[in-house]
Amino acid sequence: MQLQTILNRVEPYKSFVYETPRFADDTLHPTIEVPIRPRANGRPVCSGCGKRRPGYDRLPPRRFEFVPLWQIAVVFVYALRRVDCPRCGVVAERVPWSNCKSRLTTTYQWFLAGWARRLSWKEVATVFHTTWDHVRVAVHHAVAWGLIHRDLKGVKAVGVDEIQWRRGHHYLTLLYQIDEGCKRLLWIGRERTEASLRKGLDVLGEEFCKGLRFVCSDMWRPYLNVLAERAGDAVHVLDRFHIMKKLGEAIDEVRAGEARRMKQDGYEPLLKHSRWCLLKRPENLTDKQTVKLDELLRYNLQSVRAYLHREDFQRFWEYQSAGWAGKFLDEWTARVMRSRLLPLKKVARGLRAHRGLLLNWFRAKGAISAGTVEGFNNKAKLTMRKSYGFREYETIELALYHQLGALPQPKFTHEFC
Ligand SMILES: [Zn+2]
Repeated sequence: MQLQTILNRVEPYKSFVYETPRFADDTLHPTIEVPIRPRANGRPVCSGCGKRRPGYDRLPPRRFEFVPLWQIAVVFVYALRRVDCPRCGVVAERVPWSNCKSRLTTTYQWFLAGWARRLSWKEVATVFHTTWDHVRVAVHHAVAWGLIHRDLKGVKAVGVDEIQWRRGHHYLTLLYQIDEGCKRLLWIGRERTEASLRKGLDVLGEEFCKGLRFVCSDMWRPYLNVLAERAGDAVHVLDRFHIMKKLGEAIDEVRAGEARRMKQDGYEPLLKHSRWCLLKRPENLTDKQTVKLDELLRYNLQSVRAYLHREDFQRFWEYQSAGWAGKFLDEWTARVMRSRLLPLKKVARGLRAHRGLLLNWFRAKGAISAGTVEGFNNKAKLTMRKSYGFREYETIELALYHQLGALPQPKFTHEFC
């Protein structure tokens, strides 16, 4: 079988012919060159208006990288024709395998982008003997195509989340679709201000906001304000993951303060190595941590009391009705407010202030999937970790859309990847 036969099967072009391939002799890495010529009776297509126009002249041959075969690079070699177009002037023709802005064929770009979802960009570049920048260009192309062609109809539930990036207080705002059957990243922006969330909702459009039935966020004031303003008809739910995270942070603060005081007063360092015992759920503890927790529970420590309040609060999520959950919430916050655990009291005050939003959790049960925001939060962090070396915001944005956006792809004759 000849290579042309395979190419005509996997990548057929009506108006062009693959000629006899040959090994290139001037390249470092083994390379097959596939010359391409236009069919004799075909007129070139103008790249400006897409109409068939008379030919004008030909440019020098150009190389277009295609999907490698058995670790042998494959390049198409073709001399573009220029057309004499009455509308666009003398311009280069349009060819089906490339937009001519890049050295990579469109198929090869999709191929690299597909692998960049499974491996780090650096690994993709190494495995396929290409550069990190070519992988970036390929992902950029895939994301741009996907964002234009994605369907935003029928989105009923969204979650807003913030994620820290770089050192210090740098945040990104992320908007997810969290409908039961369809979960994906919809938008990313810099900062976690009112302006950033507003910008995201602007991009998604007024029609989109009107269709929302449920919105989910943490207690961050700028998000609450913008969601009330733009999606006022939707049921606003405070996300379980974020609330439990807040409680965890409060426990940590109590523990750190207490450990400091005990050290100053010359007590034994009882709280040493206790951080994870108090932060993790009991079922997730290691054996050693369980022993440590048992030991801690024998003392009447502030950290332990804070821990027990948090464990107690887990019951809130188990209620079936908002009425009983509300009663529990009032009792729980009253108990915490009587304690002297300042960081925990701060959270309790916040929960009290957002009682209505908190109880909406029970109204949204079943309509939105509870763990989605947390799941996405973890995946986003993983993507950012895997892409170490991404210093620029634009690159992180690309990587996150590519990994979490569930973006569509065109239909291909052959699936290379
Ligand atoms: Zn034209």
